[in-house]
Amino acid sequence: VKCVGILTSGGDAPGMNAAIRAVTRAAIYNGLQVKGIYRGYKGLVTGEIQEFKSQNVSNIIQLGGTILKTARCKEFMTVEGRQIAHETMVKEGIDALIVIGGDGSLTGARIFAQEYDVPCIGIPGTIDNDLYGTDTTIGYDTALNTILDAVDKIRDTATSHERLFFVEVMGRDAGFLALNGAIASGAEAAIIPEFSTEVDQLEEFIKSGYRKSKNSSIVIVAESEITGGAMHYAERVKNEYPQYDVRVTILGHLQRGGSPTANDRILASRLGAASIDAIQEGQRNVMVGIENDEIVYVPFTKAIKNDKPINKELVNVLRTLSI
Ligand code: ADP
Repeated sequence: VKCVGILTSGGDAPGMNAAIRAVTRAAIYNGLQVKGIYRGYKGLVTGEIQEFKSQNVSNIIQLGGTILKTARCKEFMTVEGRQIAHETMVKEGIDALIVIGGDGSLTGARIFAQEYDVPCIGIPGTIDNDLYGTDTTIGYDTALNTILDAVDKIRDTATSHERLFFVEVMGRDAGFLALNGAIASGAEAAIIPEFSTEVDQLEEFIKSGYRKSKNSSIVIVAESEITGGAMHYAERVKNEYPQYDVRVTILGHLQRGGSPTANDRILASRLGAASIDAIQEGQRNVMVGIENDEIVYVPFTKAIKNDKPINKELVNVLRTLSI
C-alpha cells in the first residue's frame, strides 16, 4: 500500500476530525500518501478528492463535525455505483480505504471489499456506541456529556414545578446513551429498546414507587421504533395516570455537535493511528476497536452484527440508586 484514502460517512459524531488528523499524520509518519475523500462514499463516485498533507489537518482536533463532510450515498448501494467508486480509486492511485462511520458505513465497506481487492479498514465513529467488539465508539462520550448538561438543566425546572419529564435521547436501536445518561444525570429511570419486549418499563417505573419521596422525576427514553419514543410514554401517562403533570423534551441533533471530550479525542487518536498499523500489518476488512484498553481488530461481519449487549450491572445500579 502506497496511498490511503480516508472518508467519513453516515451520521456525524464529535471526534471524527480528531480521527481524520490521526489517520493523516500516522500515514505520513509511515511514508504513505493520504487522500481525503469528501462527503462519504459520494466523493468516490463524484471524484471529490484532495491530497492531505500534515498541515491540512492542523488545528482540527478540537472541532466537532467533520471537515471531510459526511453524506448518505445511494449510488454506493448499487453494483454500478461501487464500480464507479473503484474506477475513481484506481484513477487516483488510492490502494487502501479507511472508513470512519457507523454500522451502515462499515456494511458498505464490507461489501466493497468483497467485490474488489482493496484493503478496507473501519474506524467506529458514531454517538450510538452500537458497534460490537469495541468498548466505545468515537463521539459517544461527548454525546453522553451533552445529555448530562441538558438533563441537569431540565432537572432545575422539573423540580420547581414538580413535574414528570420524559427526555428522549438518540441511540438508534441501542440504549447505551439512555442508560448511562440516566445513571450519570441521576435520572429516575431509563427506557431502552433492549428490554422493550421483555417488560413494560413504564409500568415498572410507576410500580416501583414513582413519587414516593420526590418532587420531580426524569425518565430518559431511547429514541427507537422499538420503544416508541418519549411522546409515546407521555401520552400513555396522560391517559393512564392523569394526576401527573407530564412534559417531554426531545434533545435531537444537539447531541451530535460540540467539541469532543478528552476521552473522544484520545480514542480517535488511538484508533486513527491503529488503522494505519492495521494496513501496514496487511489487515483487511476489519474495524479497529478498543477492548479493555487494548487495540483490537474486529472483522466487519462481527462488528456490524448489531447486538452489542447492555451490561446488566448498569441496569441494576440505576434501579438501586433511584429509590
Ligand atoms: P451509519 O454509518 O451512520 O450507520 P448509514 O446507515 O446511513 O450510516 O450508512 C452510510 C452510508 O453507507 C450509506 O449512505 C451508503 O452509502 C453506505 N451503505 C450503507 N449500507 C450499505 C450497503 N448495504 N451496501 C452498500 N453501501 C451501504
